[in-house]
Amino acid sequence: MTDYDIVTVGSGHNGLVAAAYLAKAGKRVLVLERNAWFGGGVVSRELTRPGFRHDQHSMTHIFIQANPLLQRDELGLKGRFGLRYLFPDSPMMSVFEDGSTLTMYRDPKRTAAEIAKWSTRDAAAFLRMSAQAAAWLPMLVATLYTPPMPLGASSALMDQSREGRELWRTIQMSCHDVLASYFEHDRVRAHFARVAGENLVSADEKATGIGVFVFLGFLEAYGFGVPVGGSGRLTDALVQCIESYGGAVMAGQDVTEVTITNGRAAGVVTAAGQKFAARDAVIGAIHPHTLSAMVAGLDPEVRKAAEATQITEAACVTVHAALDGPLQFRTPDPVQSVMIELMPATYREMRECFDNLRYGEFMRTHLLGMGMLSMFDATRVPPGKGVAHIWDYAPYRRPDGCSWDEGKAAYAASMLERLRHYTTNLDDVLLDFHCDSPLDMERTSPSFRRGDLHGIATTSYQSGSHRPTPELGQYRVPGVERMYLVGPFQYPGGGVFGAGRATAQVMSDDLNIDFSKLEQPA
Ligand SMILES: Cc1cc2nc3c(=O)[nH]c(=O)nc-3n(C[C@H](O)[C@H](O)[C@H](O)COP(=O)(O)OP(=O)(O)OC[C@H]3O[C@@H](n4cnc5c(N)ncnc54)[C@H](O)[C@@H]3O)c2cc1C
Repeated sequence: MTDYDIVTVGSGHNGLVAAAYLAKAGKRVLVLERNAWFGGGVVSRELTRPGFRHDQHSMTHIFIQANPLLQRDELGLKGRFGLRYLFPDSPMMSVFEDGSTLTMYRDPKRTAAEIAKWSTRDAAAFLRMSAQAAAWLPMLVATLYTPPMPLGASSALMDQSREGRELWRTIQMSCHDVLASYFEHDRVRAHFARVAGENLVSADEKATGIGVFVFLGFLEAYGFGVPVGGSGRLTDALVQCIESYGGAVMAGQDVTEVTITNGRAAGVVTAAGQKFAARDAVIGAIHPHTLSAMVAGLDPEVRKAAEATQITEAACVTVHAALDGPLQFRTPDPVQSVMIELMPATYREMRECFDNLRYGEFMRTHLLGMGMLSMFDATRVPPGKGVAHIWDYAPYRRPDGCSWDEGKAAYAASMLERLRHYTTNLDDVLLDFHCDSPLDMERTSPSFRRGDLHGIATTSYQSGSHRPTPELGQYRVPGVERMYLVGPFQYPGGGVFGAGRATAQVMSDDLNIDFSKLEQPA
């Protein structure tokens, strides 16, 4: 038995962030990771050939940029542990089948000029949308990195003013409803609807409307962060931070049980039978569907609600390519954005792709998104070479009855065939590739259950303080003292948010730690 103050199950960035704040508070912290590597969804690995570092999951760090964790450098990740970001001028663009493009820039006037290629009316509407996004952003940012306000209270607050009611209305609308009220051109609507798709939901899903404004607000105010050296550099900096405060981070430790003593989380047991005691608390990256298997004696109502949380039908498939040189696109326009969306012919076709998923079918066409971050950061690859990260959505349970292990090679080949449609030299530069199916996705982290890269679906009834369920929405587990949760299935949701900070705040309240002292730059 080895004693610590805090034991954290999982070295995903959220678990590491929570553990690092507690380590900064003087607690003796241990992080246990089942994989042979650290980081969960924030990892860079040589998946194809030596020297080619691929961001296996997250590649751009968007929402963490406004987190006081980085804004004030509360853990010294930038100042002391070498974390650096690049912010390219163009965070995102769409490339259409006919070679036309719509590029977004951090400067709204440049984006408006792009939109004016299609519709001057839409260009003017975009500037209105951008102004609205900028107006809402500070209020949204103020709510993202602390525990969520109870849903009833936040609705009551919004209901008190005209502006609040307009925000509430937008929150309840679908992305499509919002886009149809701003834009007339099919391409412009398709471009912005693809943004909703990145949240693994159809643009037609109700209560996705606010996503357009959140995304646009972040894109313009903060840009899309490209971590120098790869996504995993955030993980490396967090591990160094924990170790600098005397904490330990251990790989190859599969935790099978959280031990409970007198109704209180008291430690963990690994698959190898090793026991670690936690004097103060246990933090767990534990999916709601498996919470009761890890934490014995869970209240039956808490368990029932946790197991009823819903997972999206849009599971993720990725292809990571090692390239011998730059990929050339068929379009004459420059392709130099962080996220590059390879668009179907029409907006309708995109919406119907999500309808296919709803019925358990493969999408009628691949909705490929891609990033080639070596074009901004050459440190990830050998000189002159490149990497590409290409993603698509598919049902976790394949309609053809084939298993993903049997079918993924053909699926990856079909994704690459689709990429050939937009590029001219794929076969000349493709050295090697690695494909992760939805099944591989959940093997790399139990958070990505059934290939849902947000853990559970991003729907209104699983959002805010009701994420994942009303009982578990404050990162605590009712009935089990000193057990705390982190993960994409917790508020504010999937993505590199650094949300473990909010878990650390809740823990600080319970452990009589003055969190304001942890907010000082390290
Ligand atoms: C393909 C893909 C692309 C993505 N792209 C982006 C992007 O570009 N930008 C963005 O912001 N977000 C992106 N995301 C989402 C983002 O990666 C996740 O939301 C985020 O990494 C979740 O972090 P986390 O710390 O909450 O959980 P995780 O990263 O899932 O970490 C949980 C960790 O806990 C470990 N663990 C779990 N159970 C145990 C156990 N019992 N014992 C020991 N260890 C355990 C897991 O192995 C894992 O390492 C992407 C996700 C995927 C899958």
